[in-house]
Amino acid sequence: MNYVGRFAPTPSGPLHAGSLVAALASWLDARAHGGRWLVRIEDVDRPRCQPGAAEVILGQLARCALVPDEAPLWQSTRGEAYEAALAQLRHAGLAYDCACTRREIDEALVRQGRAHERYGERIYPGTCRAGVPARLRHRPARAVRLLTLRGGVPQRIEWQDRRLARQDQQEPRVHQEHAVQDVTAEVGDFVLKRADGCWAYQLAVVVDDAAQGITHVVRGEDLADNTARQILLQRDLGLPTPLYLHTPLVRGADGAKLSKQNGARALDLADPVAALQAAAAVLGLPPGVHAAAESPAQWLAAAVPAWAGIISGSEPFTR
Ligand code: GLU
Repeated sequence: MNYVGRFAPTPSGPLHAGSLVAALASWLDARAHGGRWLVRIEDVDRPRCQPGAAEVILGQLARCALVPDEAPLWQSTRGEAYEAALAQLRHAGLAYDCACTRREIDEALVRQGRAHERYGERIYPGTCRAGVPARLRHRPARAVRLLTLRGGVPQRIEWQDRRLARQDQQEPRVHQEHAVQDVTAEVGDFVLKRADGCWAYQLAVVVDDAAQGITHVVRGEDLADNTARQILLQRDLGLPTPLYLHTPLVRGADGAKLSKQNGARALDLADPVAALQAAAAVLGLPPGVHAAAESPAQWLAAAVPAWAGIISGSEPFTR
């Protein structure tokens, strides 16, 4: 099959141990399928991006011999494609302007008795769904949202997720997991373009996965919850849906997910083979099998059959 995979880091800082796991898994899965592996720099969220971080990430990947088969795609160069996708959604009556501030959204939710949980999803109350109300028209539209309630029908998305079992399981296996999300009820009309003019991750990722011909998305479990939104957008835009595989997260000593936000340290790449070996352990690859590897490239070559063993028999190789 014509497999194309990708690693899509946000350059908000250098890679940490958790992001190397996602990078390695996506690379191994591509190679185990005889496919291609691409890198996309997801630099649309400008306030979160750090100058120079993308170059640091590419350098870290190169040090681990994780070299993409094409020059990386930078989302900051892709505005026209996102604009065209948004125009298509507007034309279909599926995108609308929203003038609400975050505070107004919260107040409306309180009035509806649906105040959001502190860290829960802020489900848009629908204020601007039928057009920006007259009282808000004096100010510029803030964001563009996707209409998820259509003719009174909520959008329920079902899909099969390839899931990698956690590292504490004896025999790591990729299994098919049936997943379902009522996007209308559980997420609501989500943002496609933000009030600050930045493109939202959901729109950018969908447009670019299609533009790059991505057939398989392999990424961290923390992103699994975005999958239904992305499939809905793919359908709305007439784009193909890749297969998704979500990998276990690296957790800190406190059990919390390791992230740049909670101060995860940059990867120590003094010994890249050791870093790869640590990432492989999270994926459940057998320990020490590649201990004799003298270079990251040699280690990677030896890891491909081990990954193929993990995925074999547990997934359809065709879509
Ligand atoms: N840019 C996203 C992140 O760094 C990943 C996007 C994806 O893999 O779909 O968290």
